[in-house]
Parts: sequence; C-alpha cells; structure tokens
Amino acid sequence: MTKEYTLHIAHLYGDLMNTYGDLGNILVLKYYGKKMGINVESQVVSLDEDFKSDDYDIAVFGGGQDFEQSIVSKDFQTKKDEIKKFIDSDGCLLAICGGYQLLGKYYIDAEGNKIPGIGVLDHYTEQQHDNRFIGDIKIKNKETGEVYHGFENHQGVTYTGNGERPLGDVEQGYGNNGTDQAEGAIFKNVYCTYFHGPILARNNIIAKHILIKALKRRYPNDDFSAQEKIDVSESY
Ligand code: GLN
Repeated sequence: MTKEYTLHIAHLYGDLMNTYGDLGNILVLKYYGKKMGINVESQVVSLDEDFKSDDYDIAVFGGGQDFEQSIVSKDFQTKKDEIKKFIDSDGCLLAICGGYQLLGKYYIDAEGNKIPGIGVLDHYTEQQHDNRFIGDIKIKNKETGEVYHGFENHQGVTYTGNGERPLGDVEQGYGNNGTDQAEGAIFKNVYCTYFHGPILARNNIIAKHILIKALKRRYPNDDFSAQEKIDVSESY
C-alpha cells in the first residue's frame, strides 16, 4: 500500500493580503501536491489567530496595499517568535511583495510612514518618490539557471541583507530596487519575491521545489525520488 502524505499550509492573513490573485499560489501547491500523491491542506491564519510553527509545513504570505499592511504589521509582531522558529527549523515560506516587505525590518509606505516588519530576515524597504515599479519582469536564478516570469507592482524598494541571496537576477523589469539587479530573496527555505502572476502558476518549478523541501522536512526517512521526477513543464 502506498503511504499517504499530508502537508499543511498556513495562509498568512489570506483575507487581507491577496493582491493579483496571490491565493492562486495555494491552488497550484494543491494541484501539484495531488499529482505527487500528497494531500495538501490549507488554513487562513489571520489577525488574532495563533500561528504555531509545528502545525505547518508551508506558509504563504501574499501582497497587500499599504493600509492592509499597516494593520497586519501590528498583529504580525505577535507571531514573530513562532515565525522565526518555523524558519529556523527549515519550514518553507513563500512571501510575495507586501508579505516579503513585512518579513524584513521595515517598509516605508507611499505616504512616508514607517511600517515595522518583524525583522526575521535582514532586508528593509525604502520609499520611492511618486513612483511605482509596474510591469512584466523576467529574472534568472544563478544557481539553478532557471528563468522566472512575473508581474511586479510595488512602490517600495528593497535592499537585502545578511544571508539573503536573490531569487534571480533581473533580465527585464525592476526587481527589488531597480539598481542592484536583484529580485527577491532566498533565505534557508524562505522564498521572497515581488512577483505576482501568481508566481507559482507561471513558474511551476518553484512550486515543485517548495513541495519537495516540505516533504523531506516532514518525512525525513522517506524516499521522494518518484515525486522529484514529476513533470511540471505544462503551461496554463
Ligand atoms: N504596498 C506595497 C508597495 O506598494 C506592497 C504592494 C504589493 O504587495 N503589491 O510596495
């Protein structure tokens, strides 16, 4: 009998942070999970709700408007210790745009207000004056050679710090700050990015990386070579 695998996703502030269909990232994880024989379950963890690091394998944190970010920022401080524990124990986290900004030290919004992040990652996000980075974006990950496509729309300009490697180098578009060619950040099993699209629907290979990492963490004694062979090259 084949063993049943289950992975649990925490959809952080899924009711408040979900620009450009970032929720689709969860649907893609479920879709490929099914193909890999994994039962993928998700639950929104929002304001005043506990995030317990041991309960989850993957966390997904979407983008948001400045107003929602200011509300989420306050509540997110209460979840800081458990998020840190989750990241330190190799939990997989996908953070998009506003979610990416709030994992770092701070975000200066369009009005110049400083919105505190939880500082579990070392990046910080400054303000642009009367400008947003909007449009299609294409990047290449140096380590894997993979090319990713997305759509960016952000006011904030992010500068990465200690232990963070870019998700990719910008070939078209702006990326983190429009100057250093970097887009997004990878830290342990945390993937941060400005890509909407949603990112996993347009770049299925990242969904596969996340699912495989989460499986290996949850079931360290099992062999996932069959799941690693699964074809994710289809396009939508
Ligand atoms: N409000 C943030 C910014 O404008 C994040 C935007 C987003 O998540 N799409 O930079």
